[in-house]
Amino acid sequence: MLNEAWKRRLIHIAHSGMGNEFNLKTRMEYPKTVLGQKIYQSKTMSYSFPWLHKIKGTIIKNEILAPYTSIQIGGPADILIFPEDVRDIQTILKNKGSQPLFTLGEGTNLLVRDQGIRGVVISLKDSFKEIKRPLFFRKKTGKRRAAIKVGAGVKMSYLAKFAARYSLTGIEYLVGIPGSLGGAIIMNAGAEGAEIGQVLRSVTRVTPDGDIQTLKRKELSFEYRKTIFPDSEGIIIEAELELEEGDRPEIQNAMDQQLSHRAQRQPLTVPNSGSIFKNPEGDTAGRLIESLGLKGLTVGNAGISIKHANFIVNKGGATASEVTRLIEHVQKEVTDRTGIKLQTEIVIAGE
Ligand SMILES: Cc1cc2nc3c(=O)[nH]c(=O)nc-3n(C[C@H](O)[C@H](O)[C@H](O)COP(=O)(O)OP(=O)(O)OC[C@H]3O[C@@H](n4cnc5c(N)ncnc54)[C@H](O)[C@@H]3O)c2cc1C
Repeated sequence: MLNEAWKRRLIHIAHSGMGNEFNLKTRMEYPKTVLGQKIYQSKTMSYSFPWLHKIKGTIIKNEILAPYTSIQIGGPADILIFPEDVRDIQTILKNKGSQPLFTLGEGTNLLVRDQGIRGVVISLKDSFKEIKRPLFFRKKTGKRRAAIKVGAGVKMSYLAKFAARYSLTGIEYLVGIPGSLGGAIIMNAGAEGAEIGQVLRSVTRVTPDGDIQTLKRKELSFEYRKTIFPDSEGIIIEAELELEEGDRPEIQNAMDQQLSHRAQRQPLTVPNSGSIFKNPEGDTAGRLIESLGLKGLTVGNAGISIKHANFIVNKGGATASEVTRLIEHVQKEVTDRTGIKLQTEIVIAGE
C-alpha cells in the first residue's frame, strides 16, 4: 500500500513529465489510478533530443495531451514544443532526424490514444496568429475581391468574424468551426457547402526538410474533409485567402444563424471532437446512426451524444480506448444492418 507522500509524488511524476530525472531505464508500473486521478504509465523515452537547447519557444517533456484536445483525452507527448517562430520549426525539422513528428492545431478533430505520441509534438496554439489587412482589387466583372494573408494558428471563428468586418463573404459558414486555420486546411474543413479549400489562393508550409515553401492553389486538390498536397503535408504556417465583397448584414446574419443552429444541434457544452464519421454518399452519418437507435449508447465514459448522433462525448474521464471501441461498435452495427461502411473523419494519433 502506498503512503500519501508517495501517492502525491507519483501523481507529480506522471503529470509533470519528470520521469527521466528518475532515470527510468525500464517501464515503471504505476497503479492505474491514484487518489482517484487517472495517471498514465511513463515509459523510457525511445528518442533523445540533444538539439532541444536550440529552440527558443517553450518545451515540455512527457506532457499529457488531453488538455490540448477538445475531447480532453490523450496520453503524453515525449516532447511538446510551442515554437516561438518559423526558425524554431525549421530547427526542429532539420535536427530531428528520423524521430516522428506530429503537428497539433487546436486539437478539435483529434483523438490522441491513451499511451500518447512518441517523438516530437509541435503545437501552433500560441503562434502564427497574424492576420494582414485585406488587399482589395477589382475583377474584370466589376466585382471587388480581397486577398488576406493569415497565420496558421488563427482560429477559424476569429477569421470568419474578421472577414465579415470588411464585408467579405465566403467563410461566414465556417464561423462555428472551432479549430485553427492550419487544421482547417489539412481537413478541408467546411459547413453548409462552403469549404476552406474553395477560398485558398496559396498555402505556405515548412517542408519535412525544413525549407519554407509556398504552394499555389493549382498545386493542391481538395476532397471532402481532406486537402491533397503534392507530397507530405509538412507544417502549415500561413495561407492566403481570396474572398469576394458581399453584403455585411447578410454575412452577419448567416454567421448568427450558423452559431445558433450549432448551439441547438451540437453538444457544445460537453467535451467532444466534432463529427466522428464522414457523411456517406447521399446521407448523413448522424441521421444513419440515430435511425439505428444508437444515440446515447456508451462504452465506459464515452457516449454517442443524445443531441447529435455523429458526436461522441467524453462524459468525464473517458479513455481513447473507450472512444475507439465505441467507434468500432458503431461501424460494425451500421455495416451489418445497412451495408454502409462509415469512414472516420477524426484524426486518431499516437499509441
Ligand atoms: C464542436 C465541433 C464542431 C465542429 N464542426 C465542424 C464543421 O462544421 N466542419 C468541419 O469541417 N469540422 C468541424 N469540426 C472539426 C474541427 O474543428 C476541424 O476539422 C478543424 O479544422 C480542425 O482544426 P484544428 O486546429 O483543431 O486541428 P487539429 O484537430 O489539431 O488537427 C487536425 C489535423 O490537422 C493537422 N494539423 C493541424 N494544424 C496543422 C498545421 N499547422 N500544419 C500541418 N498540419 C496541421 C493535425 O496534425 C491533424 O492531422 C468541429 C469540431 C468540434 C469540436
